[in-house]
Amino acid sequence: MKTDILKINPFCIEQDYIIKAANIIKSGGLVAFPTETVYGLGADALNPAACAKIFQAKNRPLEDPLIVHIADKQDLFKVAREIYKITLDLIDAFWPGPLTVVLKKQEAIPDIITGGLDTIAVRMPNHKIALDLIKKAQTPIAAPSANIFGRPSPTTAQHVLEDLDGKINLVIDGGSTDIGVESTIVDLTQDPFCVLRPGGVGIEELRRIIPQVGLYKKDGILSPGMYPRHYAPNAKILIMEGNGKMQTEKVKDIAHEFDLQGYRFGILAKFENKDRYGDFNVKLLGPGNDLVACAANLFSVLRDFDKDKVDVIIAETVEEKGLGIAIMDRLRKASGVSEKHV
Ligand code: AMP
Ligand code: MG
Repeated sequence: MKTDILKINPFCIEQDYIIKAANIIKSGGLVAFPTETVYGLGADALNPAACAKIFQAKNRPLEDPLIVHIADKQDLFKVAREIYKITLDLIDAFWPGPLTVVLKKQEAIPDIITGGLDTIAVRMPNHKIALDLIKKAQTPIAAPSANIFGRPSPTTAQHVLEDLDGKINLVIDGGSTDIGVESTIVDLTQDPFCVLRPGGVGIEELRRIIPQVGLYKKDGILSPGMYPRHYAPNAKILIMEGNGKMQTEKVKDIAHEFDLQGYRFGILAKFENKDRYGDFNVKLLGPGNDLVACAANLFSVLRDFDKDKVDVIIAETVEEKGLGIAIMDRLRKASGVSEKHV
């Protein structure tokens, strides 16, 4: 299959292009498109055969359910049921935006979307191209990240093509995504409510609306599709815990050790530490006090290390507050070590 590319300026959207993309969705094809978090791989959520193509293109296990994207808050009632005031308060506070809610599903939602569960994950993205596409397609769009399963999520159309060229109908190139990590997923069918995946909305912000929300787990059971190694570059990742000079000294020691042993390695460092590692291959995540910049760069930098063909990435940490929780979650999963519990 030939993958077409359509360049669209999100600030001046060519509606004919959106119609072209929407027609592909309507006829059961796959379109990758930008959202404010990462690029999504979209298919008509009410067409099981179209959704099956997502799993095939991404090489994604069928038990890993998809998030459904809508463009109008009212459409939540078409895909989910048992929607109480607290849900409406949450979506009023965070939609459109990087918050996914898990609710009981409506009958019409195909099992392939939910991995056979009675629940559905839904969000309304805060990106004009995504919203226009969903509106013009006149259907909810199922869209996981537009990468090969397990790889770092794509934050540019180029990343999408690296993984999926020839496997999907179209990529809309709308430039780099703003946030760079995926949405926060909160399960509203559990008591107490539970964050299944930290993301673009910080847990502190969520607690303003639902103070009782917990992080990650119920009875020690992970949510479906939460795999221990995920978001991973080809290189192994070694996370150096600690802070300040103690951390940079640890990074330096291990880098010298790897150097002596002849490993090809890189260092993922915060901006303020860029001069501490001499001539080693250092790539910068962003300033430690600018977690927004760090999140936006994360997946792109991991892919850049792959281009350098390093065997190991030695990674500094960022502070685990706000977006820093999502950044460290992705970095820990990319390293294959389960998330630290907070
Ligand atoms: P992504 O691959 O970024 O689109 O993430 C989708 C993730 O959302 C899945 O891997 C699941 O962990 C989560 N998810 C989707 N649907 C559900 C659901 N019905 N219940 C719980 N988690 C879900
Ligand atoms: Mg994904």
